Amino acid sequence: MNQVLQFKSALREAVPSSAYLLEDEAQRAYEADWRGIVDNPSVAVLLPGSVAEVSAMMTLCASHDIAVVPQGGNTGLAAGAVPVGNLPQVVLSLRRMNKIRSVSPVNNTMEIEAGVILQAAQEEAARFDRLLPLSLAAEGSCQIGGAIATNAGGIQVLSYGSMRNLVLGLEVVLPDGRIWNGMRSLRKDNTGIDLKQVFIGSEGILGIITAAALRIFPRPKKALTVLVACDSAHNALRVFLETQQACGSDLTSCEYLTQAGLDLVHHHLPASRPPFQESHPAYVLMEMSSLDTAADLPARLEPLLMRLHENGIVRDVIVAQSESQRLALWQLREALSEGERAAGGAVKHDVAVPVAGIPQTIAAIERGLPEVAPGARLNIFGHLGDGNLHVNVMPPAEVAFGDFLAQARRVTAFIEENVIGAGGTFSAEHGIGQLRVESLKNHRAPLELELMRAIKGAIDPQWMMNPGKVLNQCN
Ligand SMILES: Cc1cc2nc3c(=O)[nH]c(=O)nc-3n(C[C@H](O)[C@H](O)[C@H](O)COP(=O)(O)OP(=O)(O)OC[C@H]3O[C@@H](n4cnc5c(N)ncnc54)[C@H](O)[C@@H]3O)c2cc1C
Repeated sequence: MNQVLQFKSALREAVPSSAYLLEDEAQRAYEADWRGIVDNPSVAVLLPGSVAEVSAMMTLCASHDIAVVPQGGNTGLAAGAVPVGNLPQVVLSLRRMNKIRSVSPVNNTMEIEAGVILQAAQEEAARFDRLLPLSLAAEGSCQIGGAIATNAGGIQVLSYGSMRNLVLGLEVVLPDGRIWNGMRSLRKDNTGIDLKQVFIGSEGILGIITAAALRIFPRPKKALTVLVACDSAHNALRVFLETQQACGSDLTSCEYLTQAGLDLVHHHLPASRPPFQESHPAYVLMEMSSLDTAADLPARLEPLLMRLHENGIVRDVIVAQSESQRLALWQLREALSEGERAAGGAVKHDVAVPVAGIPQTIAAIERGLPEVAPGARLNIFGHLGDGNLHVNVMPPAEVAFGDFLAQARRVTAFIEENVIGAGGTFSAEHGIGQLRVESLKNHRAPLELELMRAIKGAIDPQWMMNPGKVLNQCN
């Protein structure tokens, strides 16, 4: 009997049938990434319901030389949660491990299994009048474990930091099946190397995150959302800097988008209305929030925006007057990725530069792209306050996305060159997955790669966890 058949037979004996899928048709739903650009077969899909089952499955995989691809909500944008080609791999989905173990409004923490959907975790925190501040457009599908494994960012990093800042403790099953219980809900703990940090952002190449202890916060009582129209990225940045100066940490979100992005959203969601009568080159979507029920947020923001309008930095402003208007403004931002996907897709880049360098970086990309990919269309949006932009390059209107992919390498090299030249990074929040392995090799120092490989080899000596993602074994 070959290795795969032996594994399947051992799996049937070791775990109940509710904890795996072995039919090709059922497995297919777990094999393609969110963008639909990578699709490779799996030997089986494992659906553990407890940490003990994860441990048993990992031991079984290790003893049969079967590689393991951890999968959360499969919303990752670097194809990290789906198999690579030509290797016997199982997909291990955490979706059945979806219990909230406890919420402590006194300690301001929650203990939660990895398969809980982010939005469900936010809602549970809200029941205790607390805020779990990680928020991103995929929150209705992505899982806590996936958000930790990618160190997800989103729209409130400005105030609360990315996922790394929210994790106090972890429970992890190692590649050999051993369980590391690091579920400490402490804000201070200087007892040796902080092991959880190694697993946060490790994209499933070191072990399976099965649960986490997370920080939660008092829930803001008031919010004010505004959409500001500007004539350039330069002025959009000035709006952010002046608002941050005036509002400090009460400015919880600051997002950037352009008319190209809004056009994609309106095309995809015909019911959405253009926010302004005129089109503008650049928009800033900002949200202020406060714990103070008596806070008069409009009185703080509106005089500032009026001054910026008088100085020609702001062209127009919409201030949300109700919760439904607030949600409608946020929908314009959150539907950008969906709108782009519905329009055929883009060669995506998730870059960050020091905030001051944003206008110059955008200008350099806009100037140089027509030479690199004539007719290609840019959709640039992102987390302005974090210096994090999604620089997405769509094919010329008459070219299909599949045909445009031949130019992807050249386009990516051009974008990365500009970003690295500006002191930035080629992956701010989406990670490496299987789409940016070469970029990591090109842009991180040999010593950094050597240290990463040493950590990988120490925890996963057989390189069985999520092969082909982040690092290659040999180079
Ligand atoms: C519309 C849209 C908007 C997005 N916006 C943002 C954004 O603003 N900010 C941002 O940071 N990201 C964003 N993303 C990317 C993505 O949603 C996040 O990275 C998300 O956190 C991934 O979670 P997931 O559960 O879907 O993980 P998956 O896609 O399933 O997995 C991602 C990686 O984590 C690994 N993994 C998953 N679960 C585990 C686990 N339990 N243990 C170990 N490894 C695991 C996988 O192997 C894979 O390498 C967006 C995606 C979409 C589709």
